Amino acid sequence: MTELMKNAAAALADRGFEVYTVATAPVAAEKILSLIPEGASVGVGGSVTIDELSVVPKLLSSGHAVHWHWLTDEDRHAVARRAAAADVYLASSNAVTADGQMVNIDATCNRVAAMIQGPQTVILAIGVNKLVDGGISAAIGRIKTQACPPNARRLGLKTPCALTGKCNERECNGKGMCSATTIMHHPPKAKRVVIVLIGQSIGY
Ligand code: SF4
Repeated sequence: MTELMKNAAAALADRGFEVYTVATAPVAAEKILSLIPEGASVGVGGSVTIDELSVVPKLLSSGHAVHWHWLTDEDRHAVARRAAAADVYLASSNAVTADGQMVNIDATCNRVAAMIQGPQTVILAIGVNKLVDGGISAAIGRIKTQACPPNARRLGLKTPCALTGKCNERECNGKGMCSATTIMHHPPKAKRVVIVLIGQSIGY
């Protein structure tokens, strides 16, 4: 485990998050599945990390109701509303600061909203690539240079970051995925926020 991962895990725990550190993606997937009670409904945010962990097919095959707009052609807002009302919510975080704050930028904002005011239990799978050795500015910098450009390309958006690798907010003017930025300093009151920190790169 890198020093940064060790320090971030300690900082997250100090802020009240329930933290597990694992070495690899397969172990992370097992840990996540073990945290979801039998029969619990599961909402999922847009997340390449969760997709790459392949936990959703396993949840479906073990009988969980899974609400994920990536799984269906159904109206995404209707699915997102069900996801926000599920027992457990799965997502990642776009960035985590060295002192344990989670920074996220979202377009539709169903993901950031559900992480903050959605299911009672939120499980966030976070690869070591999401950790920044700095504070909020470093986290936003990471998101704008390493998360938004590939995300925009994945979605076929012709944002400045997709075309040039660099953010130009004025030119983008709301056409991309940067509608709102959230910073989670601590778990919202009475909510359980579990962090599975993975010692390898996954998602973006
Ligand atoms: S504001 Fe637009 S150009 Fe900048 S990172 Fe977000 S999507 Fe990309």
